[in-house]
Amino acid sequence: MTAKLIKGDEVANKVRMEISAELKDLYEKTDQVPGLAVVIVGENPASLSYVINKEKQSKKLGFNSEVYRLPADASEEKILKVIQQLNEDDKIHGFMVQLPLPEHVDEKVIIDAIDPEKDAEGTHPINMGKLFSDEKGYPACTAYSIMQMIEFTRQPVYGKTAVLIGRSNIVGKPLSLLLLRRNASISICHSYTNDLPEICREADILISASGKPELVRGDWVKPGAIVIDVGVTPVGDKLTGDVAFEEVKEIAGWVSPVPGGVGPITITMLMKNTLEAAELAVGFRNQGVVGFDLAGEEGGYPPKKHIDAFQYIKEKNFHITIHAGEAFGKESIWQAIQICGAHRIGHATRLIEDMVFDKNGNIIALGELAQYILDTRLPLEICLLSNVHTGAVDKIENHPFIKLYKSKFRVFLNTDDRLMSDTTLTKEYLTASELFGINLDDIEKLNINAMKSSFLKHTERLEYIYKIIKPGYQKMRENLLSLKI
Ligand code: NAD
Repeated sequence: MTAKLIKGDEVANKVRMEISAELKDLYEKTDQVPGLAVVIVGENPASLSYVINKEKQSKKLGFNSEVYRLPADASEEKILKVIQQLNEDDKIHGFMVQLPLPEHVDEKVIIDAIDPEKDAEGTHPINMGKLFSDEKGYPACTAYSIMQMIEFTRQPVYGKTAVLIGRSNIVGKPLSLLLLRRNASISICHSYTNDLPEICREADILISASGKPELVRGDWVKPGAIVIDVGVTPVGDKLTGDVAFEEVKEIAGWVSPVPGGVGPITITMLMKNTLEAAELAVGFRNQGVVGFDLAGEEGGYPPKKHIDAFQYIKEKNFHITIHAGEAFGKESIWQAIQICGAHRIGHATRLIEDMVFDKNGNIIALGELAQYILDTRLPLEICLLSNVHTGAVDKIENHPFIKLYKSKFRVFLNTDDRLMSDTTLTKEYLTASELFGINLDDIEKLNINAMKSSFLKHTERLEYIYKIIKPGYQKMRENLLSLKI
């Protein structure tokens, strides 16, 4: 045998190690545990064993794993109800409905009902469309797994010729787009393709997903090519691939076996998509988040003078926190949003001036700014004691925190110890509980709000500010000064 084997278990193990490290990182920073659910309808033995395997693997990696079992005669409405429930469940970040479904159920209706942001299998039309338009989404798991196998060989993909046999929505089509992203040249073949062997002989990377046992013969393969066998067809009491393994292994550079090829990786990629969804749910990855303060008008730094800095920070994809809405009231909050592009507002106590309350303290009308903040879920970081210290509220009893919280604004309590007003996080929570009657459930929600409003650990924040932002800003200023206009 000349070809090296691409073993599914080895590829899956490598990805699982990456997932495990990311999961630890996510948990340490946010306490978030990714939740993966599977819905299974009926008792198809192959599906059941696949689902049991998924549950075992995801629990082993530390996911919150749930399985919803429905009887084979469950109505479409009943399945849709479970999907709705999962779409709304904050603890579940990704889920899938195991196919095939019983004949009375329309698979398309079911897949379309899944929230695309929780579509762990990556088969929702929105995720397909995102793949097509090169946007970030969840790639179809089987195609994604095949990409991991190609990556495992460490062979370059750019400029190579890839031939795909099969044009299904779960393999051929999404895979062609993933390979195109990696700058390969693609041919997609199917049952109407003329002279398939000739086209295959051109392939540096040959992937077969036809479900036709041993379709790909040794003399179809270019010497040294990467050959990935996706097909799985029961023949007698054995599972057989699309590739005539005994012939191909003498010609190819790399070949994947069946069984033991793509299969073990797909479950892992399901978890990878779910982990990514969980990370995005706390907004801490892919957004380059950093919570730090650029003092606004109140601190003597009018936002207009800092437009370049904000521009720079946005280019670096960091989040911006602006303290506003204390001394200058709601106008400075508008400035923080409109001029600085703030992602969250510190203090914001005087937002209350943009609201009308009845005598019981219930909101009866919102001004334009308050409505905007409510609609956009812009996080407000309330610093109870510090707001009294700065004089933004005359006494702590009059602080609008609880009104904002009860009116469903996305408020959270000060996440830092504040030296100026000698405030600690513990003191903030104590005040909130003793004075405003918030309980443990509230505290949990406030913490989740804080997490969702995205901030890094204090040490990392300092590192960003001193190592990247300040020098970057300084360099930009020097460049601007050196321009002779
Ligand atoms: P599908 O039936 O939707 O598509 C099969 C494709 O192969 C079609 O595009 C068809 O045109 C093409 N095809 C069929 N016969 C051909 C031939 N003689 N020459 C050229 N093209 C031909 O199937 P699918 O859902 O994409 O699955 C394909 C195979 O991959 C099946 O064996 C399936 O079990 C397997 N599969 C395995 C995994 C895994 O995790 N290991 C996942 C998905 C699919």
